Amino acid sequence: SEVYFNGEWMPYDQAKISVFDRGFMLGDGLYEVTPFYEGKPFRLEDHLARLEYCLNEIMIDFDTSSLKALKLEAVSRAGLSQKDAAVYMQVSRGVAPRTHYFPEDVKPTFLMYAFPVKLEGFQHKQWRVLVSEDLRWHRCDIKSTSLLANIKSNSESHRLGLDENLLTRDGYFTEGSHSTIFFIRNGIAYTHPEGPQILSGITRKVVIELCRELNIPVKEQAFPVSELESVDEVFLTGTTTQVMAVSEMISEGKTIYAQPEIGPVTRKLQEAFVAKTRNL
Ligand code: PLP
Repeated sequence: SEVYFNGEWMPYDQAKISVFDRGFMLGDGLYEVTPFYEGKPFRLEDHLARLEYCLNEIMIDFDTSSLKALKLEAVSRAGLSQKDAAVYMQVSRGVAPRTHYFPEDVKPTFLMYAFPVKLEGFQHKQWRVLVSEDLRWHRCDIKSTSLLANIKSNSESHRLGLDENLLTRDGYFTEGSHSTIFFIRNGIAYTHPEGPQILSGITRKVVIELCRELNIPVKEQAFPVSELESVDEVFLTGTTTQVMAVSEMISEGKTIYAQPEIGPVTRKLQEAFVAKTRNL
């Protein structure tokens, strides 16, 4: 299949990067994943705004003005105009001799491609998750391709046959290895505030909007692990995760939370999420 690489469409196996690309050598790069429901983009502007924020934070000078049109083109060229799909975009700083500081005036390396993804049916699933220490750095608001800590954690849960990780730092839940966490207690939704400890999830933002529409109060505050016993429902949000109920949390071989049924607040938000993303 085709990719858009440094300004041209080409078969993926013809796209080549230098061994001195700082994305390859140092993980000096960013990425974004935008969902398309039946070929139509969802929150495309938010995904572009987050990329621009991240580019600015790590000082990569890259013009994003053509990306909206290119994302639509990627979906249509891949034959996914009527299908559920996602577009992956990656910007690395570019090719330069290896140094820790970044050199000036390097041309960023850009890659984009569309791929089919199953977005329907999430309301009929539940995830079992591993609770473990958040090993990541202190700028998790930057959607960096340096994902070693996420990879290490997620590989542990995968080996145990689990679906995702809930990460904790200093006794509080931060987020999932690739999702945002929401807790429901006494009808109130809790989720970690935006800031350097989490990625500002686009789906997080959508779900907070849905809570407001449904009169579900939202508290953007970190949730303590010690209060897990008082929790009624837990769900995770993300671009491909959407709104996924958590049925079990495991920590050091023990079940520390179990909720075999999808709770009523989660259900309501799932229904509202489907209504918002279908027939765009
Ligand atoms: N948190 C992390 C660490 C992620 O990697 C992701 C998405 O991949 C999310 C949260 C969810 O963000 P979004 O809803 O924008 O996909």
